[in-house]
Amino acid sequence: MVTGAGDGIGSVAARSFAKHGATVALVGRTQAKLEAVYDAIEADGSPTPTIAVIDFAKAQGDDYQNIADGLEEQFGRLDGLLHNAGILGHRSPIEHYEVKTWLDVMHVNLNAPFILTQTLLPLLQKSSGPSVVFTSSGVGRKGRAYWGAYAVSKFGTEGLMQTLADEVENIRVNCINPGATRTAMRKVAYPGEDPTALLTPADIMSTYLYLLGPDSKGISGQSLDCQ
Ligand code: NDP
Repeated sequence: MVTGAGDGIGSVAARSFAKHGATVALVGRTQAKLEAVYDAIEADGSPTPTIAVIDFAKAQGDDYQNIADGLEEQFGRLDGLLHNAGILGHRSPIEHYEVKTWLDVMHVNLNAPFILTQTLLPLLQKSSGPSVVFTSSGVGRKGRAYWGAYAVSKFGTEGLMQTLADEVENIRVNCINPGATRTAMRKVAYPGEDPTALLTPADIMSTYLYLLGPDSKGISGQSLDCQ
């Protein structure tokens, strides 16, 4: 399962996993974008994916459970879960950070991955080598002025990963930090930057494939940099 699979790093990760044989559950909030990724995966000749539309800003417990029930019915297990969906919020000092934006960012970036993971744990336990990967950031390891809720949500993500990794023995649980990558989010964060100077999502896929695939067996509780 890949969240935020309709765009940016998530869409490329979903397509890469499918090219390596995975049947991917494409999860995101914009159906048309998920359908475009679905079509690309089919055109590649990869295993036919599934789509689940969910807006993590608004989803309730039942919405998460419906996704789990659908997976259970179709596949009976979940082998890999990439928490990739995320939002930037706005850049401002803590002193002026808008409370609503703070709550939204914390919810989409941190609470939703917690709820989704908790809901899917029974299905992950049914896999022979399950892997959960959370998406972190450089500002989730060292705070930086004006990155507000985004930075704090990524610190929380690292904490969630470490706590879960310490609890479960048969599931690999790790973080990935993509580093500066050419996507829509990066463009908003650094509008003055030359995007052609950045690595593309395709350039950083080896770390994603490593963590989701069998080669990282035995690796858990780690936070890996792609760059
Ligand atoms: P994008 O903005 O390109 O893609 C984010 C994806 O998350 C989109 O598919 C988006 O859906 C989805 N999403 C956002 N909000 C929600 C929501 N409420 N419900 C469901 N899906 C949602 O970002 P990137 O590809 O750049 O980032 C991917 C991850 O990598 C993020 O977690 C980000 O924090 C992290 N990261 C990125 C870096 C970079 O340089 N690009 C650097 C460090 C970390 P939709 O397309 O419908 O908007």
